[in-house]
Amino acid sequence: KVEEKKVGLKDKVAALVISREVVIDEKKVEGILEELEEILLESDVAFEVVDAISEALKSRLVGRRKKLTEKLSDIVMEELRSIIFEILDENRFDFDEFIKEKLKEKKPVVIAFVGVNGTGKTTTIAKVANRLIKQGYSVVLAAGDTFRAGAIEQLEEHAKRLGVKLIKHKHGSDPAAVIYDAIKHAESKGIDVVLADTAGRMHTKKNLLDQLEKIKRVTKPDLIIFVDESIAGNDAVERARMFAETVGIDGSILTKLDADPKGGSAISISYVTKKPVLFFGVGQEYDDLVKFDSKWLVERIFS
Ligand code: GDP
Repeated sequence: KVEEKKVGLKDKVAALVISREVVIDEKKVEGILEELEEILLESDVAFEVVDAISEALKSRLVGRRKKLTEKLSDIVMEELRSIIFEILDENRFDFDEFIKEKLKEKKPVVIAFVGVNGTGKTTTIAKVANRLIKQGYSVVLAAGDTFRAGAIEQLEEHAKRLGVKLIKHKHGSDPAAVIYDAIKHAESKGIDVVLADTAGRMHTKKNLLDQLEKIKRVTKPDLIIFVDESIAGNDAVERARMFAETVGIDGSILTKLDADPKGGSAISISYVTKKPVLFFGVGQEYDDLVKFDSKWLVERIFS
């Protein structure tokens, strides 16, 4: 009998422990937050974005009740993952699906690429062309960076290697006119997609933004894609913000992930632009373009 009573008591105590809840207070989460902030910073997430994530995390956790049996660190991790997914997947769309659907409405689909020089923009245009060609689409390139010496020739080299036509004017000419011509060419030849390069730098930022504004007005791109380096950290974030706030972008491609161990810059860029990262560049070859996968990235950062 005594034994039976003991067992009964044990069960009762266990039930009590399981059902007991505690309130999560700020002190308890702070230590964990500091550790997580460090992981994010080491993964190349920009300072301001780490701060914002940390604040969001704190406000979702502090004051919440948790069962005594639940581990605080598990709860924090789960909440952190969901905050990061919300950032990465805000306004997400599938690039391939977008092209397919858009082509039912109009032809050609026009995509303009913006971003500063040296980040891999030209190579990325060639990679996207390669992807579209492999999917069976026809493509024409537009040499819309008429400012940088050698930009037209560089794109021409890619066009030759890919076996696609490049529409170009003289160095220094009006890029809106070049891209407009590429669209007319595509219309007359039944080409599916126009991929347009744009200048990455001009005499002043205002010159550049005015030029991009004109391109947008004249050629009405269906997509504007911002290209930058996944390794550029806070600089890339500032540029992303600038292009997103002025020209307006629909998504980003981050290059050189092969040189970056983590890729947390995707979180920063998504956070400041509120637009998804569509692809990562992972090398110098045309096939080195991988579709962005938020689950994969989050695993990569926290494993
Ligand atoms: P742009 O000035 O922005 O047009 O840059 P480019 O396309 O000329 O690229 C600059 C350099 O970065 C070139 O040497 C490219 O081969 C290289 N590059 C571009 N994308 C990648 C990438 O994803 N990984 C690596 N490792 N190199 C890349």
